[in-house]
Amino acid sequence: MRRITIVGGGQSGLQLGLGLLKNGYQVRVVQNRTAEEIAAGKVLSSQCMFANAVQHERDLGIDFWTEECPPVEGINFMVPHPELPGEKAIDWAGRLDRNAYSVDQRVKIPRWIDEFRKLGGSMIIKEAGISDLELYAREDDLVIVASGKGEIGRLFERDPDKSPYDKPMRALALTYVTGMTPRPEYSAVCFNLIPGVGEYFVFPALTTTGPCEIMVFEGVPGGPMDCWGDVKSPDQHLATSKKILETFLPWEAERCREVALTDDNGILSGRFPPTVRHPVATLPSGAQVLGLADTVCLNDPITGQGSNNAAKAAAVYLERILSHGDRPYDAAWMQGTFDAYWDYAQWVTAWTNMLLSPPPPFVLDIMGTACQVPALAHRMANGFDDPRDFFPWFADPDAAASYMAELKAA
Ligand SMILES: Cc1cc2nc3c(=O)[nH]c(=O)nc-3n(C[C@H](O)[C@H](O)[C@H](O)COP(=O)(O)OP(=O)(O)OC[C@H]3O[C@@H](n4cnc5c(N)ncnc54)[C@H](O)[C@@H]3O)c2cc1C
Repeated sequence: MRRITIVGGGQSGLQLGLGLLKNGYQVRVVQNRTAEEIAAGKVLSSQCMFANAVQHERDLGIDFWTEECPPVEGINFMVPHPELPGEKAIDWAGRLDRNAYSVDQRVKIPRWIDEFRKLGGSMIIKEAGISDLELYAREDDLVIVASGKGEIGRLFERDPDKSPYDKPMRALALTYVTGMTPRPEYSAVCFNLIPGVGEYFVFPALTTTGPCEIMVFEGVPGGPMDCWGDVKSPDQHLATSKKILETFLPWEAERCREVALTDDNGILSGRFPPTVRHPVATLPSGAQVLGLADTVCLNDPITGQGSNNAAKAAAVYLERILSHGDRPYDAAWMQGTFDAYWDYAQWVTAWTNMLLSPPPPFVLDIMGTACQVPALAHRMANGFDDPRDFFPWFADPDAAASYMAELKAA
């Protein structure tokens, strides 16, 4: 029986660990917080997952919340009018072909830890360091590091060719609330872009107390939405969230008249630089370990892709491990495994990084056209499920011009 250790029991580490257990591997997951600590701690993400990513959980029989979790049925994109206060310059909506779901990681991860133990996995609660990695590498056939934004990920060298930014591009905040007025017609990720200020998006989710809405703020550093530093209490966090909407997005403020925090831990603020790292790290002993998901491919949350990427990366790694049979997991195999994931993830990363810079005129033209052409709105909405579909036309002015002309002529 092959033995694999995974450091980090989050979306990718546990999904992969559960997949390996179900295929007869001996798996140890090393996780720095207990299930109880995660359940009782602060929110970690907004984790909206589109259908292709959810399908990987479904394939493993670990999507336990599809009945309970309120679905996300579409994408609504809005830009406030620069001269007419309270009006929108751009407003399009497209339905998703298949629903998306956001299950609070404080709900999901403890349940998965429980499942992992039930299936015979070994769950070690500790903050793994380099000496632990050395031990796991000696004892097991393969060590995978899936520690998300954890410090240990710095073991993997930053890849400057794949990382255009070296500083945080957004000041992030999350506010989990109940009592929001639902969007009419169908539920959606309501994505608002406020040029020069940042982005705000909101969608239904399932949290520890039941259904809720998650408000996500992405403030341009130094701008008016980069305002979380002085917030000292959950009440102030909620008040700041509402103030931003009243100032920039009155239609969103209107939905929030009666909102309350889901719980005092339903808030988060922070920032980090989006970073891609080399996927294979060499320990002082010469042993090599492989990075997975955010550890080696960390995107800004602006496009809501991190958990989706983590689920897809875990699925690719599972497939690569299963198909490798009894052969050794050497550095070439590790690099090939990341490359198989990067074949996909490079497009997500490119699209996400594009949205962190001010939109060029041809992108504004695409957004404007989507208000008139429902087929384009539909395509863009479903692009969140597979961002490869945005290329080349969302990235290249000539490709965009010919596609827009084709759509307008149809
Ligand atoms: C504000 C915000 C909003 C987001 N919104 C979305 C969204 O809407 N949609 C989406 O798809 N994604 C979103 N994401 C991103 C998503 O949450 C992450 O990309 C995803 O959870 C990454 O999964 P992972 O397995 O790589 O890491 P994680 O889920 O972070 O798991 C890593 C685990 O490793 C543990 N760990 C770390 N160091 C160690 C150590 N030394 N020893 C042992 N354990 C360790 C951590 O405690 C954690 O449990 C958002 C993120 C943020 C910050």
